[in-house]
Amino acid sequence: MSKRGMLIVLSGPSGVGKGTVRQAMLQDKAQNFKYSVSMTTRQMRPGEVDGVDYYFRTKAEFESEIANDGMLEYAKYVDNYYGTPLRYVNETLASGTDVFLEIEVNGAMQVREKCPDGVFIFLTPPDLVSLRDRIVKRGTDDEATIEKRLEKARGEIKMMQNYDYAVVNDKVGLAVHRIEKIIESEHLRVPRV
Ligand code: 5GP
Repeated sequence: MSKRGMLIVLSGPSGVGKGTVRQAMLQDKAQNFKYSVSMTTRQMRPGEVDGVDYYFRTKAEFESEIANDGMLEYAKYVDNYYGTPLRYVNETLASGTDVFLEIEVNGAMQVREKCPDGVFIFLTPPDLVSLRDRIVKRGTDDEATIEKRLEKARGEIKMMQNYDYAVVNDKVGLAVHRIEKIIESEHLRVPRV
């Protein structure tokens, strides 16, 4: 039996720059994975192309895909549906090619349930790791003033625990490089028999 491809899931909090990192990864001609184009009900933005950036569909069309078990995962985000069509992912993995998803966190957790063998990468804002250290140590004098920030960070850190890797998005090129190294290492894993 030929080897299945690897499912790579990039996710992270809203506003962290997932889309920018994804676009930079797709521009790297050396990459060997296929990007899974998502389906959405949101309006097309200027410059976007149907079937390239997203499959732009109506709410009724999207809901019919859900009803027909056509989605690997889906989520509502700012009043629109976003989801990963199942068939493309299945067929590409079966052909031995890696598949790359860039999706929000609720969808990523659904994929984690269905595809535990996937590689789950959490993209974090640059200050999250240092904020975490501060939270862990507690007792810092300015905690009250940054409480709101920390509250948000706590939620994000909790989310991070569900992933295999955390990649800091300080510079897009660096984040891409880190993700590519993760993919490379995952391919070098000694299979468990
Ligand atoms: P945007 O509207 O800015 O293109 O995307 C909004 C959010 O939807 C981003 O956080 C993006 O990661 C997420 N997203 C894009 N495609 C999918 C998908 O197929 N599934 C899920 N769950 N989220 C997605």
